[in-house]
Amino acid sequence: MSPTYDVVVIGLGGMGSAAAHHLSARGARVLGLEKFGPVHNRGSSHGGSRITRQSYFEDPAYVPLLLRAYELYADLERATGREIAILGGGVMVGRPDSLTVSGSLRSARQWDLPHEMLDAKEIRRRFPTLAPQDDEVALYEAKAGLLRPENTVAAHLQLATRQGADLHFDEPMTRWEPYRDGVRVHTAEDTYTAAHLVICPGAWAPQLLTDLGVAFTVERQVMYWFQPKGGARPFLPENHPIYIWEDAAGVQVYGFPAIDGPELGAKVAFFRKGQVTTPETIDRTVHEEEIGAMADHMAGCIPDLPGTFLKAATCMYSNTADEHFVIARHPGHPDAVTVACGFSGHGFKFVPVVGEILADLALTGSTAHPIGLFDPARLTAAPA
Ligand SMILES: Cc1cc2nc3c(=O)[nH]c(=O)nc-3n(C[C@H](O)[C@H](O)[C@H](O)COP(=O)(O)OP(=O)(O)OC[C@H]3O[C@@H](n4cnc5c(N)ncnc54)[C@H](O)[C@@H]3O)c2cc1C
Repeated sequence: MSPTYDVVVIGLGGMGSAAAHHLSARGARVLGLEKFGPVHNRGSSHGGSRITRQSYFEDPAYVPLLLRAYELYADLERATGREIAILGGGVMVGRPDSLTVSGSLRSARQWDLPHEMLDAKEIRRRFPTLAPQDDEVALYEAKAGLLRPENTVAAHLQLATRQGADLHFDEPMTRWEPYRDGVRVHTAEDTYTAAHLVICPGAWAPQLLTDLGVAFTVERQVMYWFQPKGGARPFLPENHPIYIWEDAAGVQVYGFPAIDGPELGAKVAFFRKGQVTTPETIDRTVHEEEIGAMADHMAGCIPDLPGTFLKAATCMYSNTADEHFVIARHPGHPDAVTVACGFSGHGFKFVPVVGEILADLALTGSTAHPIGLFDPARLTAAPA
């Protein structure tokens, strides 16, 4: 008896919804199982905006994937008519030797990406909302900007459904096992068979992927929205860029223009610096001291931003030890399972290209995309 599905995708958040789209677009019979409803706010893919950029300070090896992700995001907008990318330009600010500036410049030079270097005076002139120290500089990238995470997930789910994928919400996988040449997947409702399983668990990786042998740290992160002093006009997208700003202590803060209209303020968050948590125990309350600490930090670099606090929301990072992703056939079940996890707080800009890679890996066992950096073998302890 042949299995009911070609591929079962576990988790229909950022990565899983993209995988369901790319797999079903290639004619695979796809079942997607999601623990919560469509486009929910309990994982890692919510909060209205995500930064995207090409001069990638984390490692130049990400750049070819970013170039492909930009193309696929444009395809997604065309195919669904949804607004997803707002590419109004961005600055990576810090001292010249900060990782944020020097790493971005390294990628820009290695891949010949269009960019400009701005000194403090030029930053102040071009972007009057920003108040850098005299020894701070910025790499400006016109193609940087933001993505709408909820619209991205909704668009991928819409296309997957149109292409015939079965998507089941509020139906978590409880367990799976190897079965014949593929897998058998269990939920409280039913049991399904498939030739292949793709696991995109986000912050649930420590529970769903114990047998991978990779340590993940789930981190609580807070996003803050402020109404700027003197009103939001200088913070509208035509006046205010996206930014990542590293201070002398190596603390990175990042933020967005006021994209949802002047009343809804501008969003800002610390990159990293979160508390270790789990999806079950995360503190969803944002405390006065945290809001005060963010307002104090911003007063030093974007003084008009922390006018009135409007709201805050929590989200989770799933970090690997080196903050690079894990995307591979599962080393313990190479024929039956593919995994995509450990996106370490910087995965969203890659969502559509990860979907494409997962479709390649699930259906053919390999991909033409350069994913050597994401091999889990680098993170698993060498045998004694
Ligand atoms: C505050 C914050 C800011 C960020 N900013 C940026 C940014 O500016 N730029 C950027 O590129 N990236 C950013 N990121 C990172 C990016 O958003 C994540 O890397 C990405 O969303 C991860 O997608 P995912 O599919 O792995 O996780 P998720 O979208 O959380 O999806 C995992 C899914 O698995 C489901 N699931 C779990 N267990 C089961 C089960 N047993 N059965 C079925 N389903 C299950 C979950 O419900 C969830 O829907 C940010 C993240 C946060 C939290």
